[in-house]
Amino acid sequence: MSETLRLLPDAAGIARAAEIVQAGGLVAMPTETVYGLAADATSPGAVARIYAAKGRPRINPLIVHLPGIGAARPLARLSPAAEALAAAFWPGPLTLVLPLVPGHGLAPAVTAGLPTVALRVPAHPVARALIEAAGRPLAAPSANPSGLVSPTTADHVLEGLSGRIEAVIDAGSCPVGIESTILALTDGGARLLRPGGISPETIREKTGIEVLPPDGETIAAPGMLRSHYAPQARLRLDVTAPSSGAVHVGFGPEHPGELTLSAEGDLAEAARNLFAVLRAADRLAAARGAEITVAPIPRRGIGLAINDRLARAAAPREASGG
Ligand code: AMP
Ligand code: MG
Repeated sequence: MSETLRLLPDAAGIARAAEIVQAGGLVAMPTETVYGLAADATSPGAVARIYAAKGRPRINPLIVHLPGIGAARPLARLSPAAEALAAAFWPGPLTLVLPLVPGHGLAPAVTAGLPTVALRVPAHPVARALIEAAGRPLAAPSANPSGLVSPTTADHVLEGLSGRIEAVIDAGSCPVGIESTILALTDGGARLLRPGGISPETIREKTGIEVLPPDGETIAAPGMLRSHYAPQARLRLDVTAPSSGAVHVGFGPEHPGELTLSAEGDLAEAARNLFAVLRAADRLAAARGAEITVAPIPRRGIGLAINDRLARAAAPREASGG
């Protein structure tokens, strides 16, 4: 493939991106969570190209991005709880895993052959414009090589996928900065498959729905492997007294560092900064042959998702999930 185009997030850029997607190509698009690698979810060839470009294991299903709840009904069965969650949080960083309905028309590889599908309506205006212009559901995992740190800028996308995808729409950095919360609505309740942009507390406050903890028995969300978001350097968490030489990532006024997720101790800011700071820390650590240490991050609100990503980034390396 030739060089990856960097498109502006204006009408012409979005029109060009929509043409690429309609022709079965790959476009990285900004969303409120991270940059997503978008392709036509109804085209087996386009979906196969997502897995190839990322080096993503084919057992790891993709999230389908839609313009609104109306577009979800022809694809999946929405229980009353699913309807309530969608009404409260779409558009926004909440993904619902729902039973597929017959005649859904999605490429089988999107769901890795499962009888369920993960659906989301993104809030970012550029993602919304592309979905609208493409006129079809878009499968979009994070726009990075499988297992590595997720991208929150167009430069991050190009560092990992330049020459492997047709285009990236550059709309600056992502306002939430961490992937969507994934809930499975397939066994009666709402079960947390992945913590993300919307916390279980917020879900309870807004809908009265109690989020069930992840089910440790089964791998409910295939592809959610322990090692993910991995920097090159070794990473240690919950470090309050950094050793000299280490690249220390701080949080809050009590735990400063050479870099910080948020000097003021603001969790939303920390989520926004997380992946860019991990990349910067990794560059410093490589130059110095050092490890990365990270200060403790509170496990409340979006802090749950930050700790989840950091734990995967620190986990021993294995075949990873995408
Ligand atoms: P990513 O595209 O990297 O944000 O990852 C999406 C994640 O959604 C996958 O790793 C799965 O864990 C989860 N997922 C997608 N579809 C399903 C599904 N049908 N059932 C359970 N989990 C899913
Ligand atoms: Mg990913």
